[in-house]
Amino acid sequence: KQIDGNEVRIFNLDAHSREIIHKPNLERELRRAIGKNELTIYFQPIIHTRTGEIRYEALLRWFSAKLGPVSPEVFIATAEKSGYIQEIDRWVIENVCREMGIVHQRLKRVSINLSTKTLESSELEYVLCSACARYDINPNQIELELTEHTLLRDEEELIVKLGRLREIGFRLAIDDFGMSHASFNYLRVLPVDKIKIDKAFIQNIVYDSREFHIVSSILSLAKKIGVDVTAEGVETKEQALLMMGAGCDELQGYYFSKPAPNDILLKMSEKTKNQ
Ligand code: C2E
Ligand code: CA
Ligand code: CA
Ligand code: CA
Repeated sequence: KQIDGNEVRIFNLDAHSREIIHKPNLERELRRAIGKNELTIYFQPIIHTRTGEIRYEALLRWFSAKLGPVSPEVFIATAEKSGYIQEIDRWVIENVCREMGIVHQRLKRVSINLSTKTLESSELEYVLCSACARYDINPNQIELELTEHTLLRDEEELIVKLGRLREIGFRLAIDDFGMSHASFNYLRVLPVDKIKIDKAFIQNIVYDSREFHIVSSILSLAKKIGVDVTAEGVETKEQALLMMGAGCDELQGYYFSKPAPNDILLKMSEKTKNQ
């Protein structure tokens, strides 16, 4: 491929090596990324298994002029440590809503990832409601995906806060379900509508019955308590069929589509419509 030497070098590094090489610069560069217009939002389709309805998860991308493309696994972790994640999540909320406002038909329902640090911010409710009002979005079009990369400091306060957001109409999902020792406790105490089973649990379900039974038990538990389930990381038709058969509500993964910029997804959907 005709890419110049520098780019090839950056591209061939995995996320871990990039982190080691650039760590001193990473935080400083990240703080400049918004101003330099280096952040962009990709969307990945989520397919509802019974209705066929398609929604999208917003996934942040950073194309740094200095460092090359940096994986979210790396820069989100850095931003969480420094506290800058609140500003990033706020930028994501604003820009997702803006894009929803522009292409109302296409981006009707979108999931946004929020870090625990952002949930602790006293302005979150205002930031969300203000964006919804300005872009004419009903809160029920937005689902908030919650992960705990940092420990919850005040569980009681969080429960109250999430309850308020849910009353306003926002939908709430527990992300990376099963990956934390606290997953079941979150399911017990947090007022959520959905869990997203982490892709690590989906990977081997076709070949390993033990792993499949774990996933289908999570599904039947969720059904009993009235919580919807999304399977993450569905990469093959066999995985999709197994999860559908087990009663999974939504599927997401490379089998359907990788995350992509909104205008590309738009073109893809027009192509299928015309076929
Ligand atoms: P996540 O929320 O669990 O997102 C799913 C990750 O799996 C994404 O990685 C997605 O690109 C990837 N993925 C989707 N389908 C497949 C598949 O079939 N196979 C495989 N192997 N991977 C798949 P990504 O985009 O690199 O994001 C990594 C993490 O960064 C996310 O994990 C999320 O925790 C965090 N993140 C991304 N955007 C934001 C954001 O705007 N705010 C916050 N706070 N966190 C974000
Ligand atoms: Ca997510
Ligand atoms: Ca995950
Ligand atoms: Ca995650």
